[in-house]
Amino acid sequence: MERKHLLLVFLLVLAALPMAPGMPVFAITLMNYIGLGALVAIGLVLLTGVGGLTSFGQAAFTGFGAYTTAYLTTVYGASPWLTLPAGMAVTAASAVVLGLVTLRLSGHYLPLGTIAWGLSLYYLFGQLEFIGGHDGIGAIPPLTVFGYPLMDERSIYYVIWLCVIVAALMTINLLDSRMGRAIRSLRGGAVVAESFGIDAGRVKLAVFVYAALLAAVSGWLYAHLQRAISPAPFGIYAGIEYLFMAVLGGAGHVWGAVLGAGFVVLLKDGLQRVLPQLLGMQGNYEAIVFGTLIVLLLQRTPQGLWPLLLRLVPERRERPRPAAAAALPRRAAPPPDGAILSVDGVSKNFGGLIAVNDVTFAVRAGEIAGLIGPNGAGKSTLFNLMTGVSPLSAGQVHFAGRPIGGKPSRAIAALGVARTFQHVKLRPDMTVLENVALGAHLRGKAGMLRALARLDRADEARLLHEAARQIERVGLGEVMHRPAGSLALGQQRIVEIARALSLDPALLLLDEPAAGLRHLEKEKLADLLRTLRDEGMSILLVEHDMSFVMGLTDRIVVLDFGTKIAEGSPAAVRRDPAVIEAYLGGVAHEIAVN
Ligand code: ADP
Ligand code: MG
Repeated sequence: MERKHLLLVFLLVLAALPMAPGMPVFAITLMNYIGLGALVAIGLVLLTGVGGLTSFGQAAFTGFGAYTTAYLTTVYGASPWLTLPAGMAVTAASAVVLGLVTLRLSGHYLPLGTIAWGLSLYYLFGQLEFIGGHDGIGAIPPLTVFGYPLMDERSIYYVIWLCVIVAALMTINLLDSRMGRAIRSLRGGAVVAESFGIDAGRVKLAVFVYAALLAAVSGWLYAHLQRAISPAPFGIYAGIEYLFMAVLGGAGHVWGAVLGAGFVVLLKDGLQRVLPQLLGMQGNYEAIVFGTLIVLLLQRTPQGLWPLLLRLVPERRERPRPAAAAALPRRAAPPPDGAILSVDGVSKNFGGLIAVNDVTFAVRAGEIAGLIGPNGAGKSTLFNLMTGVSPLSAGQVHFAGRPIGGKPSRAIAALGVARTFQHVKLRPDMTVLENVALGAHLRGKAGMLRALARLDRADEARLLHEAARQIERVGLGEVMHRPAGSLALGQQRIVEIARALSLDPALLLLDEPAAGLRHLEKEKLADLLRTLRDEGMSILLVEHDMSFVMGLTDRIVVLDFGTKIAEGSPAAVRRDPAVIEAYLGGVAHEIAVN
């Protein structure tokens, strides 16, 4: 059996379940609760599992969906089908406000922030008299379809599960898209996304609103299933349970959310039924046993349940190269003479440490320039200053005649500056192809809405074709479908070069690209860089392998302790007494220390 078939079987079972002879009503009720939980958990998969943003507050968004429809249908007699978009609008507006406040928080402060507003919204629901205070709102009308009211568990079941299936498929579409790659890149921090032109803050907010909207749909369904609501199910405890569903299911997998929701709902129900009989006494023992079981499970399967299931149904491996598609437009080449990059009196202090000290040099258009110097000389720091990753302490940087000091990374990337990182920054769980396609982000257009509806395929085909072309160009065509993390470190550096090339840069900044490569691989890399230069690209590279630098570069700048000590042709630099002193002094020092 293949994975596609598994989905088909699941859908058929789902459709047949309520019609199965002898199916008890309570089983359908449980299925309905699983569906409601799954909707919220699917949002959390995207937010927490994929985006790395933990939220305990999702239950509050179900509350917005539920209260909006309860209020409008009971007070104004509005149709539930109109209150759904109303509830989603209310939720989206609240999510934007809450997101703008909380998503700035980093580390532990973000989940703590979501707990804080999760708690306060719960109390707010209980305090507001116009929505019934702690008693809530009753006599909510049922959903109607073609005038037929969905009064019983079986009929609303289909609406709930249709919502779940649509949400799951839309979310899977989203993950497999230009915006999906941007979301998936966030996990390792925002630096990579921003270096390829992505506004990480906006992407986070969009994911946050999307997850909130799925929760709002769940709340809307809940209100019309229960026909009465009170604040209790929208509190922080429910928020924690949704997080359990997403994490237990397998936080990075959309269908895992459905599995996790099923597991949590059934486990809770089972314990509530069985424990009192088993123990022969009443009490909240199920909460204790539930908590213990969850801890044990998280310990045994930190990746969640879904990957275990996937192992039973292996995927067929051969994936084709992305089909040929129209080439992406290229950027107009900068004029071939003069400086493409000029660094003027640039300094950087970290507290008391002067990492870069009043450095001035230029990279000419169409040359390969080298930046060398002993460890800790300030080379990577200088890269970060030129690409907007860290702010300048003094001086200015111009790219193609424009000042770029103080601009955010994404703006500098948009001008045509692409880079690699000394400490490889690929998403190890994304394929080589997906990692490289991230580099072409700015050359695509399809946004989230088009991706959700899968209307982005033409745009996507061009991006993937371009990524495949760059991967083949650097000689890694064989491994484009492998997870990037499975490659040797030297190869991962080459993947970073392909990713940078996908941006169609005018200036390429390479931080130790040859580290970890074998001799032949280094020669191939040097050939590639020469070809790129001959095509008009300007390259600045940091490298430790002296024979590599000397044989490849047109000009070299030497740093020592943050200060420029020499600049000139490879031959001149090699003879420079200050350079010999810096390098030999370093070696002599190391020998003395050892
Ligand atoms: P290189 O790339 O030439 O080996 P770096 O630019 O990485 O050197 O580092 C230059 C100096 O700046 C080193 O002394 C390093 O410890 C220091 N440094 C780099 N980044 C930071 C930072 N974020 N905070 C404090 N010190 C830093
Ligand atoms: Mg470095």
